[in-house]
Amino acid sequence: MRPVSDAGERVALPIADSGLVPASYDLQADVRSRIAAARAELGDRARVVVDQDIFVLVGPGGSAFDGAAHLAHDALGAYFNGRFSTRPARPVVVYLFSSAPSYEAFCQKRFGDKCKEVLGIYQRARREMVVDLSLGASTLTHELVHPIVESDFPTAPSWLDEGLGALYENPVFAGPGEIHGATNWRHARLIEALESPAEREEAIRRELAESKRQIEEHTGQTVTHLCYPWHVSGPTARRLAAQLGYRTAFCGKVRGVPITPVGGDPLTIARIGEDYVELLPGRGREDLFRILRRKWRRRLDRHPA
Ligand SMILES: [Zn+2]
Repeated sequence: MRPVSDAGERVALPIADSGLVPASYDLQADVRSRIAAARAELGDRARVVVDQDIFVLVGPGGSAFDGAAHLAHDALGAYFNGRFSTRPARPVVVYLFSSAPSYEAFCQKRFGDKCKEVLGIYQRARREMVVDLSLGASTLTHELVHPIVESDFPTAPSWLDEGLGALYENPVFAGPGEIHGATNWRHARLIEALESPAEREEAIRRELAESKRQIEEHTGQTVTHLCYPWHVSGPTARRLAAQLGYRTAFCGKVRGVPITPVGGDPLTIARIGEDYVELLPGRGREDLFRILRRKWRRRLDRHPA
């Protein structure tokens, strides 16, 4: 079935990587041959459902399979409804199993190895997905995202690809063509993985102390000046910097402090632009008027009137 837009009309989506498939490429013939190959794997009685003309769902059948096929249909309809704009050009075969042993046995048989993930895998080179439905079909909504991202955003980094998969792991269908993710099992793990305030303080202390120690070891000089990473600091970093023996510490821009005057906070020094370094005493010293004129000329060159 073609995707449906918000307004309810059918919309045609561009086919992905069509430049990579030869002009003579016949999608329907490819789908038929993939179905035949899947039936050769699972037997002639395997259930087959094709969704979006591209996703070939195959499995031994049963209520878990039917539920998953329904879920895939709803999810794919929503994915291609304004969320992803480019569809895969070639079919993707999705093997669906309703128990962990049958899932594992299939990986062994097909790939000669254990399944690399507990609930589902997508093999890009083969354009095959294997999913264990025994703990719920929503692994499928995660895995289906991968071949779509592969077509829609081929250079997407894996954190984004996996993030988009995880986003739809616990899908909520607010209406036809709509999908959004709800909080899932990852939330508790995420909270657990976040640093506690004590761990955070310890990490800042360790970094400030260790960088000081290493520079002192290499230069033989006592280090008393600090440039905060990313040019920003908070009260904890400032307190720790003072405790560890830093006398001055530089930020980037500091809100409300255009320039740190004499008597200002030495652990929150607002950094001035490098242009002004040339105002320092010594040979080739510039004057303020010339520096400002250069700055403005650069700005005007970048944004001509
Ligand atoms: Zn994934």
